[in-house]
Amino acid sequence: MVDCYSTPGLLPFEQALTKMLNNVIPVQDVENVLIEAALGRVVSQSIYSPLNVPPHDNSAMDGYAFSHESLLQSTTLILAGRSMAGDPFQGECLLGECIRIMTGAKMPKGCDTVEMQENCEVIDDDVVTRKSIKFLQSKDKASHVRFVGEDITKGQVVFEQGRKLSAIDIGVLASLGVPTVSVYRKVTVALISTGDELKLPGALLTEGDIFETNSFTLAAMLEKMHVNVIKFGVVKDDKTLIRNAFIEADKQADAIFSSGGVSVGDADYTKIVLDELGEIDFWKIAMKPGKPFAFGHLPNSVFFGLPGNPVSATVTAHMLAIPVIAKIQNCTNAKPTRLRIKTETDIRKSVGRMDFQRGVLTTNDQGDMTVTSTGNQGSGVLTSLAKANCYIVLSAEQGHLQAGEVVTVQLFDSVIQH
Ligand code: AMP
Ligand code: MG
Repeated sequence: MVDCYSTPGLLPFEQALTKMLNNVIPVQDVENVLIEAALGRVVSQSIYSPLNVPPHDNSAMDGYAFSHESLLQSTTLILAGRSMAGDPFQGECLLGECIRIMTGAKMPKGCDTVEMQENCEVIDDDVVTRKSIKFLQSKDKASHVRFVGEDITKGQVVFEQGRKLSAIDIGVLASLGVPTVSVYRKVTVALISTGDELKLPGALLTEGDIFETNSFTLAAMLEKMHVNVIKFGVVKDDKTLIRNAFIEADKQADAIFSSGGVSVGDADYTKIVLDELGEIDFWKIAMKPGKPFAFGHLPNSVFFGLPGNPVSATVTAHMLAIPVIAKIQNCTNAKPTRLRIKTETDIRKSVGRMDFQRGVLTTNDQGDMTVTSTGNQGSGVLTSLAKANCYIVLSAEQGHLQAGEVVTVQLFDSVIQH
């Protein structure tokens, strides 16, 4: 895809992403895990239902079960027994009879319809010693009955290979009586932050220092991706130290994220070292925040070189590296949600790069959704990301926008929100 609006010399965002996705191999090893330990794991074989859910016709209400035909003949039916959840009625309900039934209890033989108890009246009959039930209104056949296999039928594919399991999915597996699930092995990512100026939170800042931010954001994002994270901490701008860190990270991880040192400043040894150790492309991507970005392969791992600025590092990781990690995980169900929404505010935007501006999506007094920019979009202003709940995604050809114009909004996903 040629993007004629991107500034010459810059690689369009979509091309960068496609190149990376086409150049990674998903993990193959699998393991069996208990379903309670399977949150966020990726299913390695499609799962077929071993049974019908529900396993039998059952009542959706507390009330009385009967044959619909009985009620056509009389509004009062003899109470002939009861069916409780886990303790079904054993006999057969005859015409003219009904059975007391509780929610979830198996439908008795001879019954096809349930009436809720609120629409019934119990009549004590001294003569017969059996109670009768008066039905106060007529009911359609099959009312308040949940049918066998209505949720899932036996043999049906429940989850396709490649599905990353959610909390609900784990409940669905439990409902099938499946105690363990075959999943792909976890992916391991090593994090390296380069820069002489970086100090870890808790240390004393001396003149010119700043606190190291990126490995904290990235580790948290990757944990939300259910990835094993190995932190290499801060590596000084020293060729040998950087080289040693990359060699070690390559031994231990499937992928390496480094931040800083991918531009071509005087102290940017990352490029020199990586060129020696592997096959790395250094790109200028037509995106904002972002631009300098590196991708390639070391002997055993995939490498992502993120820009140093915390906003750029976060957004490039989120938009470019995380989808590639998802592919390495074999995950196929992680598509972002995008909406077309009116902007409340004017948006400044220069033609030539794709913008991922930070936005706040809200519902106005009329109940309509609108989006506003979080203001300062500087690539060092991490609080602009913290305030936001979405990206305003603006294509490379887009220029300034006025309030009221419709823009594409991408909701923040669970990777960067709690
Ligand atoms: P660099 O790409 O190394 O020139 O870094 C660009 C900017 O990002 C500089 O202002 C760095 O101080 C800053 N920076 C680089 N790495 C980090 C980090 N891990 N945490 C916070 N800021 C960083
Ligand atoms: Mg640096």
